[in-house]
Amino acid sequence: MIGKIVYDYGRTYICDDCHALGKFKSYKAARQASWAIARDYKTCYCPNCAPMHRYTGCKGPNPNLLNIAKY
Ligand SMILES: [Zn+2]
Repeated sequence: MIGKIVYDYGRTYICDDCHALGKFKSYKAARQASWAIARDYKTCYCPNCAPMHRYTGCKGPNPNLLNIAKY
């Protein structure tokens, strides 16, 4: 999940699969660090889990990959 509170360093990102913690200034920064951010900006996955959930990357949507919004 993506934290609602914005700290000096940005927001906290907790992987919805393995609960790894990340801290990023922005969604863009998180994506650049290979985190997968859902379109609702609530769900996110760390680089280890992202490949299983990712629907988009730094180059935009990839129709060949799973839609993160579907469970
Ligand atoms: Zn994870």
